[in-house]
Amino acid sequence: LAPVLAPVVAQAASPVADKTDMLPPPPTGRPDAAPPDPGPRPGPCAAFAQRHLFDYNPAATRRWLALATAGLLAAAWSWWQVAALPWEALVQVQLGIGFVVAAALFPVHVPRTKYSIGVADVFVFALLALHGAPAAALAAGAEGLVGAVRSTKRLTSRVSTPAAATATMAVCGLFYSAAHDALIALAGLSAAAASLAALCLTALPYFAGTTLPLLAVVAAKNGQRVALRDWAQNYSWLAAIYLMSASVAGVLVMNARQFGPAVIAVAAAVAAAVVALVHVSLHRHEADRTQQEARITEAQHEADRNQQRFTAAFTHAAIGMAIVRPDGAIAQVNQALCTLLRHPESALLNQRFDSLLHPGDAALFHRRAIGNGEPARPRADGAGEPARPRADGPGARPIARAGEAFSMELRCRDAGGHEVWVLLHIGRFIDPANDQSGLIYQLHDITSRRQAEGELKHIAYHDSLTDLANRNCFNERLEVAVERSRTDPDTRFAVLFLDLDRFKVINDSLGHIAGNTLLQEIARRLADGVRPGDLVARLGGDEFAVLLEHVNAPDDAVLLAQRLLAALSVPMMINGTEVLPGASIGITLSDLGYRNADEVLRDADLAMYAAKAEGRKRVALFDASMHERIAEKLKLEGDLRRAIGEGQLSLVYQPLYDLAPYRLSGFEALARWIHPERGHIGPDVFIALAEESGHIEALTAWVIDQAVGQLAQWQAAYPDMAHLDMHVNISGRDLANNALVPLVREVLLRHALPARALTLEITETTLMGKLSVALDTLYALRKAGIKFSIDDFGTGYSSLAYLSTLPFDSLKIDRSFVMGMDQQPQNVEIVRAVVNLGRTLGKKIIAEGIETVDQLATLKEMGVHVGQGYLLSRPLRVDAVTALFDKAATEVA
Ligand code: C2E
Ligand code: CA
Ligand code: CA
Repeated sequence: LAPVLAPVVAQAASPVADKTDMLPPPPTGRPDAAPPDPGPRPGPCAAFAQRHLFDYNPAATRRWLALATAGLLAAAWSWWQVAALPWEALVQVQLGIGFVVAAALFPVHVPRTKYSIGVADVFVFALLALHGAPAAALAAGAEGLVGAVRSTKRLTSRVSTPAAATATMAVCGLFYSAAHDALIALAGLSAAAASLAALCLTALPYFAGTTLPLLAVVAAKNGQRVALRDWAQNYSWLAAIYLMSASVAGVLVMNARQFGPAVIAVAAAVAAAVVALVHVSLHRHEADRTQQEARITEAQHEADRNQQRFTAAFTHAAIGMAIVRPDGAIAQVNQALCTLLRHPESALLNQRFDSLLHPGDAALFHRRAIGNGEPARPRADGAGEPARPRADGPGARPIARAGEAFSMELRCRDAGGHEVWVLLHIGRFIDPANDQSGLIYQLHDITSRRQAEGELKHIAYHDSLTDLANRNCFNERLEVAVERSRTDPDTRFAVLFLDLDRFKVINDSLGHIAGNTLLQEIARRLADGVRPGDLVARLGGDEFAVLLEHVNAPDDAVLLAQRLLAALSVPMMINGTEVLPGASIGITLSDLGYRNADEVLRDADLAMYAAKAEGRKRVALFDASMHERIAEKLKLEGDLRRAIGEGQLSLVYQPLYDLAPYRLSGFEALARWIHPERGHIGPDVFIALAEESGHIEALTAWVIDQAVGQLAQWQAAYPDMAHLDMHVNISGRDLANNALVPLVREVLLRHALPARALTLEITETTLMGKLSVALDTLYALRKAGIKFSIDDFGTGYSSLAYLSTLPFDSLKIDRSFVMGMDQQPQNVEIVRAVVNLGRTLGKKIIAEGIETVDQLATLKEMGVHVGQGYLLSRPLRVDAVTALFDKAATEVA
């Protein structure tokens, strides 16, 4: 060993003494205890034993006393011997002991162990080799004392440790001298080699002597025997240090003998420097480590606190929570979940989570939670992604893929089997208990929200009156059907558009409540009449629609529509009145290649109008020509608007005659339109068009102005004609127009024509359909002195008794009855009944459409007051009327 390494020798900081110090100090009197029994005052020995050997049994006490005595004797002997040394040697010994004490005062503590490394033993062994056993024994005792004082407060240890060292070194010193001399004499070693070898040999018994007696005291204290095996295992490191110290001391002594004792001083200085450097370095290292450890401890505390927080959050959370193992079984639940599902905790633990789901949602859950619903296949090599759980038993499925968190709304079933809607959120975490990934399920109760949504959805998609689907719902379903038939042309659908006939009449005459009853009954009949899976909707007002999915042939839809019509037409009683419902149905089929729901409904609607036009209670299948008709109609509407302003319209006047005596009584003004390209367009066509397009008010105003102006002119020119009156036709929309009454009065005033000279004609059906809005206008016109006639009487199914209460002056029997009198005798009876009624009510009876002499004779015989028809005169132009007047004037003349 190089001298430089010499300081790297160690010394135990009283390793054995530490153990005797574990017990608490002796009780010196407790304030709260009863005062100690004064008794006889103990002797000094007993007092010492009581104070310092309170936990020593007799055996231990004996051993300790023996040790202390041996140490005392050895010290005394050593002192005696050393004192006899020449002064030079004495100085060296004192210096040596000084080094030993200094080294013992500054040991280097090996971090994380109970060991301290010191160089004191090197000097102890060096003193042994240079100055013999007494010097070494004193040095060993000094070292033991310093170490014991530094490491323990108990006097017993402070005595036993140096005692053991002094006594042992005294004995081992003698052993060293014997071994040294024997090695030279018997083995022929040089003095230096013999010194080194003998020092090393001495180290071992020295080790035994400084440890075993102390252990023997401890063992006696504990009532045990000294365990030699434990001793060998626990203290062999000390043996190594002693051995090392001895060999270093040997080398040091060899050098000192050759080069002088200054070598020892140099070694001591080097040792001091090394100890200081190592101390600084270890200190620094230790400080770092302590800091790091503090951080780790803090992190651990934080982790513990987190765990506690998590547990508290889990347990007391207001939402249901469960920890689910990768195989889908529940490992832990909180109280909120038990409350939500109304199960005790024991019933939920180890259950598979999917067993709590509503059967209808289990498949959805598996699809979302596992991806495609297939159990993940375990990889043959067992590697896979570490976090991905694997199926590890029959029926066991991994839930959710690695790292994926997701939410979904689904239904669970509680203990009572009731449906519970939950918002389920699944998150993944690594379970610190087993380092496996676990799943945390959070379940929010959303049942009431779902119910409210369900109700809102029902309201949003249903008609409140009939509980049928509404327009929204129908459009959505129709969009889906359109989309499906676009992608797969084999899936054909049909839409029936249904409009009630004369619903307004019923609504207005019987009241809204009766109208609603009718709609509800119609809805019921429709719903009963369709196939399961077909959708019946009320689009609004008296419009209904039926979506027929999976239609094989167009005839299917037509047959169904006819069946529905038949069912609807069955009479029903509403508030004691028999009502005969009827409807017109338009049909269109997906074959026409629709792109959206609007197109489908538009065409079905057109078809419905076509059905109505053909006469009520009809079914019409949409065809492309309807589009053309519509386009044409639209163009015509534009033309009509211009015609009213540009003077393309004109009036003809059909004379009316008193039948008894027979004489001209007035005219009916009839509008005519000569279209610049299309020629004559009948009033049936353009009047309806004007009503639909909102031009009728302008047209009526024009007609009234023309007709009144014309009559005023004629009366001025022909004073004989002052009794004539003018009949002008008005439409239903005119009656709803508040401007009508002031307009008529203004026109009469402007042309200076008395109000009684004007009769307004309104058809029976129009009147009944608009009754609610018409009455005010009627009374106002009546009040202004204007006359009023019900046109086309007999076609409107009005109750005659009811009609009699209305403010009108004359009834005009519809020409279909008049013209039919020849063929059907029952028409004669109808006309007769009407005439009789009119007469009873005091109304004037007019008959129109008289074409034959027979008709005229019959009517005259019945007592009809006024006649009109081709037989008497066709409608005439102004010049023809003037000619008629001139002729009449010459006839009179
Ligand atoms: P309406 O009010 O019933 O008019 C009588 C219709 O019967 C007229 O047809 C007239 O030409 C026709 N007529 C008269 N005598 C006979 C006859 O003996 N045999 C036959 N077969 N027909 C006869 P027109 O002029 O084509 O008018 C048709 C309808 O157009 C009218 O029916 C009326 O409802 C409406 N209309 C005509 N002009 C006007 C108008 O200025 N305003 C309104 N609102 N409607 C009008
Ligand atoms: Ca008329
Ligand atoms: Ca008529």
